[in-house]
Amino acid sequence: MSVPNEAGAFLRIEAVTKDFGDFRAVNEVSLDVARGEIFALLGSSGCGKSTLLRMLAGFELPSSGRVVLDGNDLAGLPPYKRPVNMMFQSYALFPHLTVWDNIAFGLRRDKLPKAEIAARVDEMLRLVQLTTFAKRKPHQLSGGQQQRVALARSLAKRPKLLLLDEPLGALDKKLREATQIELVNIIRQVGVTCVMVTHDQEEAMTMASRIAVMSEGRFLQVGAPADVYETPATRFVADFIGNVNLMEGSVVADEADHVDIQCADVLHRVGHGITGYEGQTVTVAVRPEKIHLSPSEPEGTHNKVRGTVEASSYFGLYTVYHLRLASGGVLKVNVENETRHRDGLPEQGDAVWAHWLPTSQVVLTQ
Ligand code: ATP
Repeated sequence: MSVPNEAGAFLRIEAVTKDFGDFRAVNEVSLDVARGEIFALLGSSGCGKSTLLRMLAGFELPSSGRVVLDGNDLAGLPPYKRPVNMMFQSYALFPHLTVWDNIAFGLRRDKLPKAEIAARVDEMLRLVQLTTFAKRKPHQLSGGQQQRVALARSLAKRPKLLLLDEPLGALDKKLREATQIELVNIIRQVGVTCVMVTHDQEEAMTMASRIAVMSEGRFLQVGAPADVYETPATRFVADFIGNVNLMEGSVVADEADHVDIQCADVLHRVGHGITGYEGQTVTVAVRPEKIHLSPSEPEGTHNKVRGTVEASSYFGLYTVYHLRLASGGVLKVNVENETRHRDGLPEQGDAVWAHWLPTSQVVLTQ
């Protein structure tokens, strides 16, 4: 069935719900994905992201709602009739077939003419830069190369929608990072619209133009990675993406140009209004990399706190300090390791001041 499509939405997910018995795995999720976009569903185990992906592929049917791709309602279309291809974490390459035959597999099954199959397989091999590996079997390739064969095989049928389920889950960290960029380059080159599922936030942020943070079957926030990181909508999202210090307090002044929030250890001042919350409990979120340390007390009365270094962990790029505050709470502070020498850096037991800019904190009301 053809459905009128609003500009910009190549894939439209409309109020899709999936119930397994009386358990609701996906709860009225709606989303528009633009043509050529790489979109990531991000959430912890059991949040419903794979179920949503499987509904796009046609492996599961929505209990209600619908999925429209390029103007066509996918309801009633079995997986093999959808212009959709899913690449799984385990690659699922056929071990006894060569790279060339693995890529050709789906095209042969669709009974494409031989010359067309050869042209497409060669094009895919060039795309993933594995032309010289065409005759090898999967076990003669590295993990990253196998991943590229799996991608080539998924793209060979020229799907309108590419689905990636934890695409790099089988690779080690260093290879994952390199492969993430490779996959994005290939997907962009082809221009295919892509929805991926991952529980790895760095992977989602590196690969996707937008991400949806999911919990208990719902989307908590949808946005560009930087927007979700810098302007989380809720405490859950702030805490789920990256590291954060969350401080609960109440709004003690709500003026035209600022709001003051008193937390256990800190009097926060923010420049923008959360008007209407005077006297109410809110949470102030500050990312550890936005906090600075100094041995002496900074000027001003806001956005600073004194603490004692309780622990520090060296991560190469930066060091994370845990400061014990007067209330008993802990403040995490990241300090970039700009030099190779550790002279002058705080040590365990030192009393230091932590401070940050008014614009470095986000006030969360839910
Ligand atoms: P993971 O990262 O662990 O794969 P996920 O976010 O992808 O998690 P889903 O696989 O979508 O989660 O599952 C969401 C919820 O639905 C889980 O609680 C799961 O147990 C449940 N669920 C999934 N498939 C079925 C099924 N066929 N029957 C019953 N419950 C199911």
